[in-house]
Amino acid sequence: MLYKSTRNSDLKVESAQAITQGISKDGGLFVPDKLPKIDLDTINNIGKLSYVERAKYVLSLFLTDFSEDEINYCAESAYTDKKFATDNIAELAKLSDNTYMLELWHGPTCAFKDMALQILPFLLTTSAKKVAGDKKIVILVATSGDTGKAALEGFKDVEGTQILVFYPVDGVSSMQKRQMTTQEGDNVSVCAIEGNFDDAQTGVKAIFTDEAFAKSLENNGMMFSSANSINWGRLLPQIVYYVSTYAKLVADGELTLGEKLNFVVPTGNFGNILAAYYAKKMGVPIGKLICASNSNKVLTDFINTGIYQKNRDFYTTISPSMDILISSNLERLLYDLSGCDDKKINEWFSLLNSKGTYEVDDKVKTTLGDLFYGGYCTDEDTKKTIKEIFEKYSYLCDTHTAVAVKVAKEYTQKTGDKTKMVIVSTASPYKFSESVLSAISNEVISDEYEQVSKINELSGLEIPNALANLKDKQVRFSKVIDKSQMQSAVSEMLGI
Ligand SMILES: *Cc1c(COP(=O)(O)O)cnc(C)c1O
Repeated sequence: MLYKSTRNSDLKVESAQAITQGISKDGGLFVPDKLPKIDLDTINNIGKLSYVERAKYVLSLFLTDFSEDEINYCAESAYTDKKFATDNIAELAKLSDNTYMLELWHGPTCAFKDMALQILPFLLTTSAKKVAGDKKIVILVATSGDTGKAALEGFKDVEGTQILVFYPVDGVSSMQKRQMTTQEGDNVSVCAIEGNFDDAQTGVKAIFTDEAFAKSLENNGMMFSSANSINWGRLLPQIVYYVSTYAKLVADGELTLGEKLNFVVPTGNFGNILAAYYAKKMGVPIGKLICASNSNKVLTDFINTGIYQKNRDFYTTISPSMDILISSNLERLLYDLSGCDDKKINEWFSLLNSKGTYEVDDKVKTTLGDLFYGGYCTDEDTKKTIKEIFEKYSYLCDTHTAVAVKVAKEYTQKTGDKTKMVIVSTASPYKFSESVLSAISNEVISDEYEQVSKINELSGLEIPNALANLKDKQVRFSKVIDKSQMQSAVSEMLGI
């Protein structure tokens, strides 16, 4: 199987090249030339396997330039260790007769980004060996919170890699800061910068594109690569849990083979829900894809009108990982829906760049409306929803997941659709303890560990070890630098 660029359909590379490179030189994203198919018999059979075995099967369909041993090594390094707090890796909880919660947050950082970032380092080092020799991979990340920590945990002590994470000194929650500054591992480094997330992002981009610096890395047997969500190596592991979830529900007798299943996904960069779309196209009997946004509802409006409009007020919400106005992975969907029309993609995305807006044609608009439902949820409704389902089902969810629960309810009320549905749960409620506590209790507590204890007392939900253990961990990284010093921080860490 080959991968082509969304901005140039003639450019074709193998998966190892796509993963090592991250983004195509023309600015496009890599997509599979042709999606592999999975039939109902196969779905039925893999339902009896463990998560890691299902992962190996799905990965092998896409990574045809990897050997069986290489695929086994990647999947087993990520999903069989003691890294996840549950053997099922992706845990399913039944909320009501026709609704399930897919808990993707039992990994080491308690957010769904672990599902991909636990395996990406192995996919990346295996890929780089094929196309770039034995160079050491240097990962730079600018983070507003979740991604940085998940990348650190994924790359920690992975041979042949080194990772440096920059975060805005006043731009992350105290739990997130604690998660990063106490990071363990011999190949990791964390640095706060004076500035906001955009400053960190701009600084990282400038280092990436500095040719002299790249040369000096090369002279030292190193190369830069990227762990951000446009890398195919992050999207592919997400397709696995959609295939796996359907297969598991059939194996557990909750679904009849072939019966349709809807997915509701709390969405930001459109990576998670795009993986569900790919699973559907591969042949998994998925019905509607329900895209849930917070007040930054650029995607809700897009699905309903066909007009993408990023020029709008930006809201800082209690579901911060979805505070996004440019959803990068949407480009992959539009490429597919337009029949792989790279000219249209170039046209729309240059309009997005120059004018901040574009409108897709009628054919794409219609297909978009058939496949997706778009809805959104305000902060006030997010808290109400957390309280409501806690009281009704004794189920506690985080703020991002609550956005999806609210939109799921609205969808059912508006359409009367009785298809079974899976709500994708993307973070542990303990990770957003302040908002979650204020949703279910009137008590005001400012210390994050007291918030965690209180939630535990009220809900009985087990506190993830990964968060509980942080309290006693030593701070290893307390450096705060000016944004102009980012490049020297990288040199210093690499010793070049
Ligand atoms: C990143 C993230 C999301 C959004 O996922 P996308 O793939 O960017 O759409 C939702 N919830 C949580 C908790 C996240 O960390």
